[in-house]
Amino acid sequence: MRTEASTRTVKEIRIDIEKCTGCRACEMACSAFHAKPRYSSINPARSRIRVVTDEINDEYVPVRAGNFTRSECDGRHFYQLKGKQYGECSFCRASCPSRDFFIEPDSGLPLKCDMCEDEPPLAEPLCVTVCQPGCLTYEVRQVETESSEPEARAVMEKGLESLVNQHGIDAVIDKLKQLSKGQ
Ligand code: SF4
Ligand code: SF4
Ligand code: SF4
Repeated sequence: MRTEASTRTVKEIRIDIEKCTGCRACEMACSAFHAKPRYSSINPARSRIRVVTDEINDEYVPVRAGNFTRSECDGRHFYQLKGKQYGECSFCRASCPSRDFFIEPDSGLPLKCDMCEDEPPLAEPLCVTVCQPGCLTYEVRQVETESSEPEARAVMEKGLESLVNQHGIDAVIDKLKQLSKGQ
């Protein structure tokens, strides 16, 4: 089996929950960054980061929005954190129908952390910049990946299938023809 080595960039936000004070500056900054026009409003309901807050026990856990899921999980588990029990949903990153956050309040569309992608790029994601206690830190790494030819083909086929489902076979063929003419 032929394998091809390549590198890809991995962007990470590390979360040190011991340092989180629950100030929620990250939520405000995130919502401002994604407001339209940018920075025109602050509304934590539009934030792609949520701070799970337990003020009595002084526990704060920031969670960044991950992928959209159509349905709730069937099997659940629980977290035990410093003697307190939390449901699985508490720290889940999904935009999920079981709850009303990580969902854009006006449109109902799922929200997902995009690492504050912008043009020109920011030096670091905004939630990291505003996190004065240093709970959030940013790191960029290059990692080596090896993908076999059949795996790469399977990924490509899955992507094509998804495009066909979304736009229809004719639109996809037209686009491919345009691209091949440009080569
Ligand atoms: S800005 Fe930092 S310290 Fe404040 S709530 Fe967010 S992660 Fe916690
Ligand atoms: S929020 Fe997460 S853990 Fe809870 S049901 Fe949805 S996907 Fe499952
Ligand atoms: S990286 Fe950007 S988009 Fe993601 S949670 Fe932080 S501020 Fe929001």
